Amino acid sequence: MANKIKLEIVSPQRVVYTTDINMLIVRSTDGELGILPNHAPLIAGLVPAPMRVLTDEGEHLIAVSGGFIEVQPKKITVLATNAELPEQIDVDRAQKAYDRALARVNAEKTDVDMNRAQAALNRAKARLMATNKFSNK
Ligand code: ATP
Repeated sequence: MANKIKLEIVSPQRVVYTTDINMLIVRSTDGELGILPNHAPLIAGLVPAPMRVLTDEGEHLIAVSGGFIEVQPKKITVLATNAELPEQIDVDRAQKAYDRALARVNAEKTDVDMNRAQAALNRAKARLMATNKFSNK
């Protein structure tokens, strides 16, 4: 068996995913991180994005809304604010959330909480990308 690293993704509600994997690619607050087995220990913040999980079966995408990642040589723990596998994502809901947030971001109104609108946009985009349904219309 090739060298593996255990990945555990936990959200406040549940364990989302736990599997021995070959590599994980995530978007951290400091940029993209590629994590292989025996990676040096680290802790980083996560931004909304699809995580790319490489296993013997191929590549899987998992939408993560933010949180933290802790890496040890044999184990990666992701504490996600929310995380969904593609089959758990309601694409219609994510598209509506995306359209709503985009309209807020683009509105020339002073009463829009721009950080909140942008965060909602990024969460929805991560969900659409994880289901390969994101299109920049
Ligand atoms: P919405 O505006 O559609 O509620 P949101 O980004 O505000 O989206 P969150 O606050 O990030 O939603 O998530 C709240 C809960 O709803 C979480 O449990 C999350 O996993 C779930 N969730 C959010 N959007 C979707 C979706 N498109 N499909 C499935 N579950 C979702």
